[in-house]
Amino acid sequence: MEEKILITGITGFVGSHMADLLLENGYNVYGLKRWNLSRLRNIRHLLNDERVVLLDCDITDPIGTRHVIDEIKPTKVLHFAAESFVSPSWLHPSHYMDVNYKGTVNLLDAIRETGINPRFHIAGSGEEYGEIFDEELPITDRSVLRPMNPYAVSKIAQDLIGFVYYKSYDMNIIRTRAFNHEGPRRDHVFGIPSYAYQIARIEARKQPPTVKVGHIDDRRNFTHIKDMVRAYWLAVEMCKPGELYLIGSEGEEYIYTFREALETLLSMATVKGIKVEVEPDFVRPTCVPRLIGDTKKFRELTGWKPEIGFEKILEDTLNYWRQFIKENLY
Ligand code: NDP
Repeated sequence: MEEKILITGITGFVGSHMADLLLENGYNVYGLKRWNLSRLRNIRHLLNDERVVLLDCDITDPIGTRHVIDEIKPTKVLHFAAESFVSPSWLHPSHYMDVNYKGTVNLLDAIRETGINPRFHIAGSGEEYGEIFDEELPITDRSVLRPMNPYAVSKIAQDLIGFVYYKSYDMNIIRTRAFNHEGPRRDHVFGIPSYAYQIARIEARKQPPTVKVGHIDDRRNFTHIKDMVRAYWLAVEMCKPGELYLIGSEGEEYIYTFREALETLLSMATVKGIKVEVEPDFVRPTCVPRLIGDTKKFRELTGWKPEIGFEKILEDTLNYWRQFIKENLY
C-alpha cells in the first residue's frame, strides 16, 4: 500500500523539522496548515516543493477535519498541531482544551468515520508530570501526574483520550511523552530561544545589552530537534499502540538548568558584558523545577540515541536567531 504520511502542525517547530527528515529520507508528505493564520516562515523552503501537499484545516473544526482526512486517507499521522506555548495557557485555558483535546478528538473521530486505521502518533509532553520531587526522579511511565499549568492539563487530556480510543476502538495510537526539544525554529516565547533571540538582537544593536528572563533555575534534559524527530519517526514505525513511551536525552551531559544554558549562550555572544535582568512578566505563576525522564523503554525498543550535544543545541539556536534577524523574517 502506498505510504501517505500526514503531519498536523507542519508549520510549527516540530512539524517543520519532521517534514525535513521525511523528505530527506525519500518520503512525500501531507501537511495541515490554517488558511489564514499559519506561520509559513518555518516551511518557506518547502512551499514550492512538489513532494509536499499542504491542506487548509483548523482541527477545532470537525467538518473541515473530516474533509481532509477523507481526502488524504493517511497511513501514518504525526500529530503536532497544538497550542504549545505554556505561559499563555493561564489566560486561555479553555482554548487550549479546544485545540489540544477537542482537536485531537476531531482527528480521531474523522479517522474512525473514514474507516481507516493509520498509525497515529500523539506527541505528549514531560510537562504532564509537573511537580516532581527530587526523590521521585527519574520520571517513568508510571510516575504520578501533577500538572502545574493549563497547557499540561490539556496535554494529559489529549494523551488519555488517545488511550481511550485505542482501548475502545482498537485504533493504532502511539503515545509518547517527550522532554524539552530545542533548536532552530522554536518560538522565542520559550527560555532558550528567548535568550538566543535577545542576544542576537543585542548583537544587531536592536536591543540594549540586557537579556530579560523569567525563572531560570529549573532543570531539564534537553534534546536537539533533529534527534527528536528521528525519535518520533521511530515511535510511529515501531512503538506498540496504546503503550506509553518517554523520549529524551537522559545522560548527565544533557541535563542543565536554564541558568546554565543562558551562561553558555552569553559566552557565545560577540557582545561581551551583557546583563541579565528578571522581567516579572516572564515569571510564570507556577514552575516545574525538575523534569528528568527515564527513557530506557523507548531506547531498548528502537535503538534510538541522541547524537547532538548540548553546546551544539545552543549554537544552532543562536545562529538561527542571528539569521532570522539578518533576514528580517518576522
Ligand atoms: P508549535 O507551537 O511550534 O507548533 C504547533 C503547530 O500547531 C503549528 O503548526 C500551528 O500552526 C498548529 N496549530 C495550532 N493550532 C491549530 C489549530 N487549531 N488547527 C490546526 N493547526 C493548529 O509547537 P511544537 O512544534 O513545539 O510542538 C508540537 C507538539 O509537540 C505539540 O503537541 C507539543 O505539545 C508537543 N511537544 C513539544 C515539546 C517541545 O519541547 N517543543 C515537548 C513535548 C511535546 P500555525 O502555524 O497555524 O500556528
